[in-house]
Amino acid sequence: MQTYKAPVRDIRFSLETMGYDKIANFSQFEDYDIDTLMSIVEEAGKFCTNEMLPTNSAADQEGVHYNPETMEVTTPKGFKELWAKFREGEFAAMPHPVEYGGHGAPMTLAFIMSELSTATNKSFSMCPGLTQGLVDALIHWGSDEQKKTYLPPLISCEYTGTMCLTEPQCGTDLGLLTTKAEPIEGRDAYSLTGTKIWITFGEHDLTENIVHLVLARLPDAPEGIRGISTFIVPKILENGERNPIYCGGLEHKMGIHASPTCVMNLEGAEGYLVGEPHKGMKVMFTMMNAARLSVGIEGIALSEISYQTALAFAKDRTQMRALDPAKRDPNAKADNILVHPDVRRMLLNVKASTEGMRALSSWVAVNIDVGVNHPDEAVRQEANDIVALFTPIVKSYCTERGFWNVSEAMQVCGGSGYTTDWCIEQYLRDMRIALIYEGTNHIQALDLIGRKLPAKGGRAMMAFNKQITEFIRSNKDDESMAPFVNPVKEASKLLSDITMKTLMAKAAKDPEEGGAVASNYLNLFALTAIGYLLGQQAKVAMQREGKFYTTKLKTIRFYMENILPEVHSLAAIIKAGKANMMAFEVDEF
Ligand SMILES: Cc1cc2nc3c(=O)[nH]c(=O)nc-3n(C[C@H](O)[C@H](O)[C@H](O)COP(=O)(O)OP(=O)(O)OC[C@H]3O[C@@H](n4cnc5c(N)ncnc54)[C@H](O)[C@@H]3O)c2cc1C
Repeated sequence: MQTYKAPVRDIRFSLETMGYDKIANFSQFEDYDIDTLMSIVEEAGKFCTNEMLPTNSAADQEGVHYNPETMEVTTPKGFKELWAKFREGEFAAMPHPVEYGGHGAPMTLAFIMSELSTATNKSFSMCPGLTQGLVDALIHWGSDEQKKTYLPPLISCEYTGTMCLTEPQCGTDLGLLTTKAEPIEGRDAYSLTGTKIWITFGEHDLTENIVHLVLARLPDAPEGIRGISTFIVPKILENGERNPIYCGGLEHKMGIHASPTCVMNLEGAEGYLVGEPHKGMKVMFTMMNAARLSVGIEGIALSEISYQTALAFAKDRTQMRALDPAKRDPNAKADNILVHPDVRRMLLNVKASTEGMRALSSWVAVNIDVGVNHPDEAVRQEANDIVALFTPIVKSYCTERGFWNVSEAMQVCGGSGYTTDWCIEQYLRDMRIALIYEGTNHIQALDLIGRKLPAKGGRAMMAFNKQITEFIRSNKDDESMAPFVNPVKEASKLLSDITMKTLMAKAAKDPEEGGAVASNYLNLFALTAIGYLLGQQAKVAMQREGKFYTTKLKTIRFYMENILPEVHSLAAIIKAGKANMMAFEVDEF
């Protein structure tokens, strides 16, 4: 049984409290005030619930099909029709430039769409998600001709896009890749040869053409990561010929069964250089950064649908008697499971953390738009610093918590969660990959401590500290805010201590110390930042009337007292450092 209603009310509140008004004031977004934006979100929510959700479970059971003779891939029943409707709705075109057929909406809208579509059909939504990443990369790095040729059909969903990085010998370590790109004499084109693996939607039947963004090495390339270039490799060339980039097979995997994960063989395929030779990682990072935020949002999306499912189950299920006799139903043999504190604990863990992560992703999304469009250079810089700092945090924390949340929601449903009836087992399987792809979560943590924190003399961390300090200072005399300020103050002090005493003092001198603590440090950072953002939401909720706001305050209080204290156990483990893990000889594992 599938249960989902787009969380439109909470999305609106998140945008209202995370600074959407700043974006709506920019002249380029004058058509996207919050009411207009929310009417688009409502329409998108209806489309996702009415069209995408009904195909989700059946497509998971059917999976994708590979024909070894034609090397073609067929998507599950209903996907082609769904793609046509998705295209007709122009959902993917919303945040892209008008000159290439987009609607010029803020990027924030794209991230909201990403939540709704992932919640209702994660496999399907990966195809427009990757296409969006390719569009971003081409807008930033493509030549005028490449933009003219590829952006309109990608934005209109006539074509789809992929990201071809991984090879059998290299996943995390892209410096090991060996796919070759040789110049084609007399033409501004290259011939690419090599094998890519695990390429999402590398081959399918939704569109005639697929545009691959491929990492490869030029003949004179230096070794390692500094010798990688990026190429556009279309499946069908402009003259209508089939380019020799073929799907050699599909992976069998734990989840996202309706998303083809392809081996792609490049057999002298024609490609066109994007950006400068050997500077391909810059291009890929544009694509990957947007993709990393979207992957983080997958955690929010599947937490939300799992929460709604678990709640529907809980409201219906009676087992055992309430611990408090006064709460027992005298006319029944058993009480509804919502009387049990532990069922409430689990549901609220999921609800409060999901709403907190939505605040975090909305804040980062708004900062993306501010960072691109604000007229003041200093404001743009601060917004871009925040986005850079929080991209690995959103990717890693929201996926890790998302997986845990789906598991917690499954627990609420007991055996009915583990069997297929309520679909949570599918959400759990579909969720798991998000901790691995787009750079594993630990790689995000290394990015945070190794690149993002020290970048430009720690400027991003200083910007974040400035904001959190201002929140604490401006609310210190407001007693009603104490339950929402004091826990944040404590967590932020802990974060500062750990940053100074462990990261700067120990990890900067000994990289193994950094590697040992990075993942826990990222989670500590995320919990603190979410506390700060929810604290701001509490301030607004207090000034408004109605059930939504009183419930919001209770939810935030749950976060402050029942989730945020996780920072203390994380801090204790971080303080233990590398010693215990590195004490083991290899043969002792
Ligand atoms: C379903 C699916 C879809 C995918 N889609 C795509 C796609 O569309 N395009 C694409 O190019 N790729 C795709 N991938 C590949 C994906 O991005 C990689 O799996 C991922 O980057 C991890 O690489 P790996 O699997 O080779 O793991 P490895 O790199 O072998 O890592 C194994 C373990 O070692 C750890 N590790 C590695 N290096 C370090 C280090 N320096 N410090 C500490 N720990 C380390 C990792 O964190 C991990 O836990 C997909 C994979 C799957 C399964």
